[in-house]
Amino acid sequence: MRALAAAAGFTDAVVVNSCAVTNEAVRQTRQTIRRARRANPNARIIVTGCAAQIDPASFTAMSEVDAVLGNGEKLDAGEWRALARGGETSRVNDIMNVRETAGHLIDGYGDRARAFLEVQNGCDHRCTFCIIPYGRGPSRSAPIADLVDAARRLSDAGHREVVLTGVDMTSYGQDIDGAPRLGALVSAILDGAPQLKRLRLSSIDCAEIDDELFERITADARVAPHLHLSLQAGDNLILKRMKRRHTREQAIDFCGRVRGRRPEIAFGADIIVGFPTETEEMFEQSLALVDEAGLQYTHVFPFSPRDGTPAARMPQLDRLIIRLRAERLRAKGEAALEQFLDGLVGREEEAIIESGGRARLGNFAQARLAAPAGAAGDIARIKIVARDGGMLVGEPI
Ligand code: SF4
Repeated sequence: MRALAAAAGFTDAVVVNSCAVTNEAVRQTRQTIRRARRANPNARIIVTGCAAQIDPASFTAMSEVDAVLGNGEKLDAGEWRALARGGETSRVNDIMNVRETAGHLIDGYGDRARAFLEVQNGCDHRCTFCIIPYGRGPSRSAPIADLVDAARRLSDAGHREVVLTGVDMTSYGQDIDGAPRLGALVSAILDGAPQLKRLRLSSIDCAEIDDELFERITADARVAPHLHLSLQAGDNLILKRMKRRHTREQAIDFCGRVRGRRPEIAFGADIIVGFPTETEEMFEQSLALVDEAGLQYTHVFPFSPRDGTPAARMPQLDRLIIRLRAERLRAKGEAALEQFLDGLVGREEEAIIESGGRARLGNFAQARLAAPAGAAGDIARIKIVARDGGMLVGEPI
């Protein structure tokens, strides 16, 4: 977006890429816009992203906003040029008609240790709590050959780690010729970009893992030993009311099978607490999932009804109950992480140096470095000497 805005001739503009995942995210977007206006009284403020895509009128109505671009338009050079020429300032088309995704594959991410490669966008599922498909449109995948090229360019540009991202990444390939699965893509990248040190998968759905992907995750050391799962709940009735495609037992079984073949792997998961109709017993099933699935990184989302979703029309829980359950699950998740980190103390690990005197292990644990171990982006061997809260302390070897 920065490149497209500059190419279109924008010199003093602020682009706010909004999020719509919760009501709180939308509120923060509005706050960010107001703050951006105060800090940049003369700049043009352009709002894009999911919140703008879903509800453009509410953003064009803000006095601070000069223009609104949809999620399809924000990556279209012609739209930026039309905006710069003084064209229509609300440029948001029906995202459900968008079919292309590959136009914006990036070649580098500045000096960051990690680069992100979007392999897929959009989602054809309709989980009852989720507004994302209305912001991102239908599932569409970039071709394997383009992604292998992009991964190669990123590693040539010095990135040691590439993170594959997508809204519903495990549905990768269903919309393109030959319907390749995510496992085929991961193999193609690992084989086609041999100099790439580490490939990390962002959020995946354990109901949609193909055999080749399972094989690569469990047997290929270049796949980071860290999986983030979209679990959302630990109770089967709630999972059904969410219209998720896995059961509690399948999630536990998946984690166990992966860990059986690759014991060092760490798991993260998104879990929503306080979904409509969730009883104390149902919540305790989510709580117990942390131990039973063996989760180290628990991302807790207090349920937030989004207008237009089926869950917003279900019987809601008291906000206080939701808040207290979120606190309990967060405490459980923190304890599990600390126990995991304690188990790493004393070990020697390969880590990618990040900025600010930090380093990231393959299992996603972060370490504060007691002494410099290299420049951001370098790979270094460090010895883990202690744990400090949710972080490790490492020394260069
Ligand atoms: S699969 Fe993910 S993005 Fe798609 S509807 Fe469900 S929660 Fe939303």
